[in-house]
Order: sequence, then structure tokens, then C-alpha cells
Amino acid sequence: MQRAMGDNKILIIGAGLAGSDAAYFLASRQIPVVLMESKTITPTPAQKMKTAAELVCTNSMKSLDPDSSHGLLKNEMTTLGSLILECANKHRVPAGGALAVNREEFSKEVSSALKSHAFIQFIEQVAEDPRLLMKEYGCNYCIIASGPLTLSVLENWIKKEIGEEDFYFYDAIAPIVDADSLDTSKMYFKGRHVEDGEGADYLNVPLNEVEYKNFIAALKSAQKVPAKNFEEEKFFESCLPVDLMAERGEETARFSCMKPIGLKQPGMKLHHAVVQLRKENLLGSAFNIVGFQTRLTYKEQLRVFRMLPGFQNATFLHLGSVHRNSFINARAHLNFDMSLKHSPEIYFAGQMTGVEGYTESAASGLYVAHCLVKKLKRFEVLPFPVTSAIGALINYIMTSPTPRPSNINTGLFPEVEMTREELKSKMRKSFKKELIAKRANRDLGQFLSAAEI
Ligand SMILES: Cc1cc2nc3c(=O)[nH]c(=O)nc-3n(C[C@H](O)[C@H](O)[C@H](O)COP(=O)(O)OP(=O)(O)OC[C@H]3O[C@@H](n4cnc5c(N)ncnc54)[C@H](O)[C@@H]3O)c2cc1C
Repeated sequence: MQRAMGDNKILIIGAGLAGSDAAYFLASRQIPVVLMESKTITPTPAQKMKTAAELVCTNSMKSLDPDSSHGLLKNEMTTLGSLILECANKHRVPAGGALAVNREEFSKEVSSALKSHAFIQFIEQVAEDPRLLMKEYGCNYCIIASGPLTLSVLENWIKKEIGEEDFYFYDAIAPIVDADSLDTSKMYFKGRHVEDGEGADYLNVPLNEVEYKNFIAALKSAQKVPAKNFEEEKFFESCLPVDLMAERGEETARFSCMKPIGLKQPGMKLHHAVVQLRKENLLGSAFNIVGFQTRLTYKEQLRVFRMLPGFQNATFLHLGSVHRNSFINARAHLNFDMSLKHSPEIYFAGQMTGVEGYTESAASGLYVAHCLVKKLKRFEVLPFPVTSAIGALINYIMTSPTPRPSNINTGLFPEVEMTREELKSKMRKSFKKELIAKRANRDLGQFLSAAEI
């Protein structure tokens, strides 16, 4: 009982991570898509490229370990035919067990796949009123995937739809340093908990106790950019500005982005603290200072970060910052398929829904597109099993008492049953991860094969 798919046309606003994956999923099923992107006309403060699916901060899409929650999410996205992951795999750069990419090549590849697709009409335009645009382009559904830095004209429209009190802000970017400007004799290559030496993807900057304490004191007293009146100072615990950590306590950073554990050099004592630098590209000509998102003014960043060993003459390709990040109260306004409760022809996808992260946003685009295809085919639309990574994410945003974006993590999955021996074992954590992964693969596999799309 399939409805002819040709009389449907979907407007997607935003060719970012979510919009690109949603567009490709629909177009691959011969559903015409109008994909509207504003960046060539009005770029957001974080955008540097003209192409789609731009990774605005780190170039890492996190772990590939199939038993980790991030790895699991990637497997599910691959099963759903994610364009984002296909292009990311093509343009991978070494980053230990993580999927990191050459961001320019990756973004170009996504753009060209979208622009050359027969079922995608790519339009460079700032979307203002989705309903008027749907009419103008003859679309019967719309997916708003305009991301955490949605342009204000559209943001105002969303606020009118759901009410200002259910529209939130948040943000954070780490600096990128030019490799040639570093004195690497004060640093060493090594991945955390691995013996990879010279060929490692991470360059580490060790600090002794005095250097560490001076650095933390400087971070604490440095001048910060005050939050703008449209920005609420509301940060995720997993992505705190490094200067805020310094304010929380002298030792806080040593247990977080400056932790030395797993970075011991052979024959040496464990360093007091370590800053990790991650390659930004294959050549290793630029490094991202891991976890150093910051509110410091640019001038103060130069002064304070140059206190790090080997950074005396550092030049920065990109300084850190704290930016706006918009998302809505999904639980209050969306159905489980991410359509608006009061206007179900309009869907939301990506960070805007309250997921957090590149892959999570792309996965959310796939989820919405999957639900929409089922609706178009007049199949019963059901949520993904909560035991799967995508299902767990959606379940989180639909049930979280306080709207607070989250990336995928083990805590979002329902408990797994473990034997008494497994619970007692030192390997408890890895048993748990393995069981969660097995259950997710089984449940999502069954769900998707029944879905027949
Ligand atoms: C400053 C910052 C740093 C971040 N760093 C990381 C990180 O390091 N790692 C990580 O995993 N996640 C990070 N995130 C979180 C988030 O995962 C990414 O921003 C991700 O790109 C979100 O995907 P998305 O598809 O929802 O939005 P985006 O990828 O931002 O895509 C939205 C698209 O919509 C377009 N758009 C906006 N308004 C309009 C309009 N009115 N009309 C038409 N098009 C419009 C934008 O130009 C953009 O291309 C960061 C977020 C921010 C804000």
C-alpha cells in the first residue's frame, strides 16, 4: 500500500550535518528535496567555508570502537546509509581510535554529492518563514536543520512558534596553533594509554607543578569576553571553558583536559599535568589544543597560552571562543518523530532538537528522514528502540526533565542485565559496553528489517 512518492517534496533548511544526511537519505529514496543553505550569503561567526556540513570546531568525530557508544552510533548511521560518514571515511586523517577528517576535503565531498544528486535542488538562500517557503517551492513537509547558530530571522520565527521561553543558547571553541611556531623539543608524541611514540597522533606538552600552578593562576585572572545579552552563561559539564575550570579550583583541569594519566613517558615519572595537541590535518601542520575552549579575550589568549612550555613563539591559526548555541525544548514541542506537535508537517533535526555533537546531529537527520519516509509510505511510524544508540538519544531529548543537549554516552542506554560474576569482575565496564552494543545491534537490526524502507 505504498503511496506514490513523486507527489511529495521536502524542504530542508540547513545543509549542515543533520540537513545533509536527511537530504541524502530522502533523495536516495527518490523523494525530491529542496535543500536551502544560507552560508554563502550570511555566514555564521563560526563558519569559514562555503561548502556543506562544515565542522566548525574540532575535526574529530570521536571514537570508532564498535563497543563504545560513539562507535555504536556510527555503526547505526552506516546501516542507514549516512553520507556524512561515507565522506568522513574517505577523508580520514590519523587520530588513534577516533574518526578525524580533513575538514575541507570532507565538506567538499558532501557538497558535491548533494549538489549532483538528481533529487536534490540546492538553493543558496536565507530561510525566513518555513511555511511561506514550503508554498513557494511546492513542498508539503519541511525539516528545520539550521543548527546551533541559526540565523536570527529564522530564529525569530521559531521563537514565535514555540515561545521564547523554550528557545535556549549555549557554546565553545578551542584554539588551533601553527605547528611550525612550536618548540617541540619541550613536547612528546604519544596517545593516551598507548605506546605509539613518534607515529602518535597527539603531541603532548608536559608541565611541572610550578608551571601548572602559574598557568592556572593566569587563566583565572585573565580578562574574559563578557557574555552578550543574548547569550546565557550555561555550559555543558563535558565541554567547560578551560578558564572556568581554573576558576572552579586549582586541581580541576588536572583531572580533566590537563590530566597526565596514560601519558607517562618511558623511564620518567608521571608529569604533573599535560596539555594534548591533536593534529588538524594529515600533514600535522596545525594542532588543536584539546579541551581548551575558552572565554579569554584574544589578547589574553595569546599572553596566557604562550606561557605553556614550547609555546613562547606560538602563532594561532584560530583563537578559542565561546559562542551562541541554540536549541529548543523538544519534550514540550515535538512529537517523538521530531515533528512539531501543533504543526506536524514541520520537523526539526540536528543540534536544534537538543542532541549535541557532529555525529549525533547527523544521526538525528537520518532519524527524522527515516520517520518521514515511513509517514509518506503510510506505514506506522514508531520510535527507534531505546536500546539502540539513535533511539537512546531521541529518548533522552524527549524525556529529559531539563532541556540540556547531550552527546551519546553509555548513561543514555537502559541498564543491561549482567551475571554476578560479570558484575564482580574488574572487566565490568567492558562487559557492560559489549552487552549494550550487542543488544543495540540486535534490536535496531530487527526494527529496521521490519521497517522495509
Ligand atoms: C561554536 C560551536 C562549536 C562546536 N564544536 C563542536 C565540536 O567540536 N564537536 C562536535 O561534535 N560538535 C560541536 N558543536 C556542536 C554541533 O554538533 C555542531 O555545531 C553541528 O554542526 C550541528 O549540526 P547541525 O546539522 O544541527 O547544524 P550545522 O552543522 O550548524 O548546520 C546548520 C546549517 O544551517 C544553516 N542555516 C542556519 N540558519 C539558516 C537559515 N535561516 N536559512 C538557511 N540555512 C541556515 C547554517 O549555515 C548551517 O550550514 C559545536 C557547536 C558550536 C556552535
